[in-house]
Amino acid sequence: MQCRLDGQVAVVTGGSSGLGRGIALQFGQAGASVVVNYFSGEEKAKEVVREIESGGGRAIAVKADVAQQEEVNALFARAVEQFGAVDILVANSGIQKDAAFTDLTLDEWRKVIDTNLTGQFLCAQTAVRQFRKQGDRGVSRARGKILHMSSVHEAIPWAGHANYAASKGGVSLLMRTLAQEVAEEGIRVNGIAPGAIRTAINADALQGEGEKEVLKLIPYHRVGDPEDVARAALFLVSDMADYVVGATLFVDGGMTLYPGFRDNG
Ligand code: NAD
Repeated sequence: MQCRLDGQVAVVTGGSSGLGRGIALQFGQAGASVVVNYFSGEEKAKEVVREIESGGGRAIAVKADVAQQEEVNALFARAVEQFGAVDILVANSGIQKDAAFTDLTLDEWRKVIDTNLTGQFLCAQTAVRQFRKQGDRGVSRARGKILHMSSVHEAIPWAGHANYAASKGGVSLLMRTLAQEVAEEGIRVNGIAPGAIRTAINADALQGEGEKEVLKLIPYHRVGDPEDVARAALFLVSDMADYVVGATLFVDGGMTLYPGFRDNG
């Protein structure tokens, strides 16, 4: 058995950049038809579509704000209109708005929770409804697959990022609760918790001396690439992982191994 997604349709939110882009390209190569959701940057989303098409795959770019119910409905409706079904959701979109706890504004709190947690809720709910409506399409062992993009900060507290850490802690229990609720229908729900991966979200933090400091937190001693996460994502949504339900795969070079204890045992 291989990690193939032939005949399947995948919606990847935030698919125009970073991890979402990497996942969209990987899924396209694996044979899926890919709906590349974007929030801003239509041209970048269209580039991802062109890259998938140039490899012989099928893809479309669809604009939607994952925090808005009507836009999420329209995203899935467009996917079904174009490709006839949705078999896989990668709820990947996420933002950071960092501030010391007492400086964090209500607006910054709400924006991050709305995108990172409510957005994943809305997309997953719409996906489950769609899986139920279309029934068993016989394209994979599971009737539908959902992958939630979390972070090592679902587990590691992160001073100065209370909104982000709270959103990812929420994603962790949202994912496991949903997995428990829908597994009997043949729907598999899992999560990925990346460590430090080189994308736009942490471009500033990884500049110059910043990268040296981050490397101290990574036992495997390299910053990750979007492809590291994309390969894990492909595995989790493929039939290779058919018995993996409600799991979070940490793709972090060992960041969650508390490397500070290695030298101070
Ligand atoms: P990124 O900034 O490249 O990607 C985030 C994507 O989300 C962008 O394409 C952006 O347009 C999209 N987005 C933002 N608001 C949206 C909205 N309202 N509706 C739809 N899309 C929206 O950064 P990334 O690193 O690729 O982040 C992807 C995910 O990975 C995020 O959930 C992030 O929290 C998570 N993550 C990243 C890292 C890392 O080191 N890069 C580590 C842990 C977790």
